[in-house]
Amino acid sequence: MTDSPEYKPLRPTKGPIGRALAPVAGFGVTLGSMFRPTVTEQYPFEKVPPQQRYHGRHQLNRYPDGLEKCIGCELCAWACPADAIYVEGGDNADLPDGAHMSPGERYGRVYQINYLRCIFCGLCIEACPTRALTMTEDYELAGPTRAGMIYEKPDLLAPLSDGMLAAPHPMAEGTTDTEYYRGEVTAPTAEQVAWVREHRPDDPTLDAAAKVVDGQAPPPTPRRHQLRPPATRSGAARSAAGTGQ
Ligand code: SF4
Repeated sequence: MTDSPEYKPLRPTKGPIGRALAPVAGFGVTLGSMFRPTVTEQYPFEKVPPQQRYHGRHQLNRYPDGLEKCIGCELCAWACPADAIYVEGGDNADLPDGAHMSPGERYGRVYQINYLRCIFCGLCIEACPTRALTMTEDYELAGPTRAGMIYEKPDLLAPLSDGMLAAPHPMAEGTTDTEYYRGEVTAPTAEQVAWVREHRPDDPTLDAAAKVVDGQAPPPTPRRHQLRPPATRSGAARSAAGTGQ
């Protein structure tokens, strides 16, 4: 084939010096790298945030009044190619005194993600009709036991922001799930605060929610799961030596 008069190599043929140096040419890359600054990341002492669209741990989001966005429809579980998600829905009508965990009829009563199976493809996020399920930038998903890698609903729920009222409580008065989906519910209402005060007077979210209702605090803004704080070098050394946590 190469003897054919029509054959033309794509790259120019090396001369005698080029052919003689070819076996050591690769060392040029090594030598060049030796004088560049190091790029080793000092994890876990310094944590580099990943790109914004990184597929990290999942989060079950809330509406600004604290109700959960998940309606227990199981579409995420059906979309999962690794069979890593397990959902059981519940009826809000079964909760006492008109309480709701989420707007509408249903809520996610059981929600589990098995991170030994999850491949972080994001198909569950695409399937979710309420944007209840999103992925965060938290990549610290390792643990000493297999059972501990199955995250339950409390592990996955978004942290309550200041001013949100912990569920369960009734929906904002005069609204349906449509107003929630449209983003028209932006904070807890006075009736919701009064309901929680009557049924759970010790609820720790009451005071902040009451301040929002009174106009003394701004409406809550959603929060996301974050990377854990960086480890200190002394703490890591103690753990390695088996002398402490
Ligand atoms: S996270 Fe979304 S898709 Fe999954 S059960 Fe809840 S509402 Fe349905």
